[in-house]
Order: sequence, then structure tokens, then C-alpha cells
Amino acid sequence: TTKLAARVQAVKPSPTLAITARAAALRAEGQDVIGLGVGEPDFDTPEHIKAAAIRAIESGFTKYTAVDGTPELKRAIIAKFQRENGLDYAPNQILVSCGGKQSFFNLAQALLDPGDEVVIPAPYWVSYPDMVLLADGLPVFVQAGAAQAFKITPAQLKGAMNEKTRLVVINSPSNPTGMAYSREELEALGEVLRDFPKVIIATDDMYEHIRWGSAPFVNILNACPDLAPRTLVLNGVSKAYAMTGWRIGYAGGPAPIIKAMNTIQSQSTSNPTSISQVAAQAALDGPQDCIGVMLKAFQERHDFVVERLNQIPGIECLPTDGTFYVFPKVQKLIESLDGVNNDLDLGEFLIEKAGVAVVPGSAFGLGGYLRLSIATSRETLEQALDRIEQAVKNA
Ligand code: PLP
Repeated sequence: TTKLAARVQAVKPSPTLAITARAAALRAEGQDVIGLGVGEPDFDTPEHIKAAAIRAIESGFTKYTAVDGTPELKRAIIAKFQRENGLDYAPNQILVSCGGKQSFFNLAQALLDPGDEVVIPAPYWVSYPDMVLLADGLPVFVQAGAAQAFKITPAQLKGAMNEKTRLVVINSPSNPTGMAYSREELEALGEVLRDFPKVIIATDDMYEHIRWGSAPFVNILNACPDLAPRTLVLNGVSKAYAMTGWRIGYAGGPAPIIKAMNTIQSQSTSNPTSISQVAAQAALDGPQDCIGVMLKAFQERHDFVVERLNQIPGIECLPTDGTFYVFPKVQKLIESLDGVNNDLDLGEFLIEKAGVAVVPGSAFGLGGYLRLSIATSRETLEQALDRIEQAVKNA
């Protein structure tokens, strides 16, 4: 067998991509499997964004750009941060990367030395812990279940921090729970962070635009502006503009950290695709009503799915603040089913008996839950819920 590096053994392939692949494989075998595993909008990228990219190709904008992004896209990102978040950045405080995923990867590589600890609230986006491990860091999990609306408390944050803590990650609204921290909650977390002045903070705002409710979006910097010299704001166009395949994410933050992330990126991918950068610029500078169309659909599906899930015995689903996920508690259902001992077993049961693929909560660091994606048509969701309900009834 081929000898591989130890770092490969330390990480696991993305479980959400694995579930999607499993569902696709079963479908290829002729089985009728509905996939509720994916984490991407089911909508097409809006026309005006695609048109900008086509023009870029036709005009020959197909060469290397600056590693950290074109000046035009960086200007659009700076304008976005000003307009939507009330945050002011200079061009040397912005880095454009190949997706939000690379933004966080760069940050971990730029910041962490062996043994440095990173506080990650659980349930978490599956990639944070593994990207920390790839940087020789140590993920430290803080668990927050449904009883606390999947949000960590200041006391929990404090309990997880020590002199080895290098980075704290906040993801709001959250993948996988759909929950968002309020301004007051962020202020309270900020109080704790002030006692650890050397710790860097990453706020992952990827789902900023996929939110219901009337409260304006707020991140830790809006709540605690004094944390700006050590906070990175991570965002991207993937989720808001249905642009997952274009691979454009961006970070705003302190110039020395952005510069270090840029150095890492310069020796891995160099610039993100020139064409995608033009598309991202069109997304940020262009009309924003395309977001509203998708948002309305997500919200209607959310309302429907939460209601239906709560009608199934053993499933308890909190309404979310946003994103295209719901994260029901299924512990009672697990206990009621023969041969089903945990959420992984329940995932298997649902694939086999209901023909529905979902992601077990364990994949996100919290067992006893499931994540269902609502980024699929209303008809498909109705069918999936009918099938889950029936399979549970028959069991
Ligand atoms: N952050 C969160 C919380 C996510 O859920 C995702 C995608 O699933 C990302 C970042 C990265 O998105 P991308 O790399 O597609 O821009």
C-alpha cells in the first residue's frame, strides 16, 4: 500500500459530500432516493451574473489576476461591507479566495502553530475541525443542543478558552442548525472575548442573506466594534447568489492577517478564477432582488418542513432563523425504533426504508439530530416527508 502523510489520516472526507455521493450511487443503481443532504441552493445562478461571466470570456479576461483578487472585485466587496454591514475596509484588508472554504483554510494555515486551540461551537460546519487539524491545530468543541437553540453561552465560551486558544469561530446563521445569534447574545460573547486579547475571532457570515424575521443581520463586529483589530469577517457569493460552483469567497480583516493568508494562497491556488471574479463582482454590484426570490421559496419550504417534521412521533424540530437547513432532534425516534441505536443508524434506516438521504447530526458534532436540506423543490420535500412519515409508521 502507498504510504501517505499523517495529515491525511487526521482528516476525513466531507460527510455531507459523502451522503450526496451515496444517494447518487443508489440512484444510479435504479433506486428511488430523494437527497436532502446537499448544501447548495437548487436555483440557477441569476442571468445577469452569468452574462457578466460570458462577456469576461469573450473579452479575453482569462488570465492570471492579482492573487488577492482583481481591484474591481475588491472594490465591490469593500462597497458591500460598507453598504450592508457598516464595516470599513481598505483594499489591503480584503482577500478573495476560491470559495469561503479556502478563506477559512488560509486563515487556519496563516494563524495556527502545532497545538494551538480553536474554539468551535458544535454543531458546526463539517469543514472547520478538519481544516484546523490540517493546520496542526486542535479543535475544541463547545456543544449547544436544541435546549439552548444551538447557541453557546458566554459561560461555555469562557470555559473553553485558555492560554492556548488562538481562534474562536462564530457561524451565524449556522450551518447546520439555521440559528442566528442576536445582537445581545453577541455582545455577551464579546464580553468574554475581551478578556482574551490575543485571541483572533472568525465570523462566518456565509448565510447572511438567507434569513427570515425582521431583525437586521448582525455579526460580532456590529455588536462589538472594538474587536475589529482581531476579527476576520468571512463571506462569499456561493449561497446568497446560488453560485456554489463558481468558487468565490472573501475575507475582510486586519491587514497583517490578510497578508499572511494571501501568502498562503499565493503558494496554493494563486488567484481565484478570473471569470468567476467578474461574475462575483456582478453579483455584489448588481440588482439584489434575485436574493429575495430565493429567500421567499426557502422560507415557505422551511415553514412547511418544520410543521410536517413536528407531526412525526419522536421528531422535534425548532423553527430556524435562516439558512436552507433544519436540524430536528430525533432522539425519541431513535429510541422507538428496533435496531436503530443512534443518528447514524437512523440515517441508514431512512435511506433504506424511506428512500430519503439526510445527514446524521454526528457529522456536525452533535448526535441525536439530523440535518435536512430544504434546498429542493416543494414537491420533493412533500414526497420526502410523506415517505419518512410512512416509514416511521410502518416500523
Ligand atoms: N461556511 C459555511 C458555514 C458553509 O456552510 C459553507 C458551505 O457549505 C462555506 C462556508 C463555504 O462555502 P463555499 O466554499 O462554497 O464558498
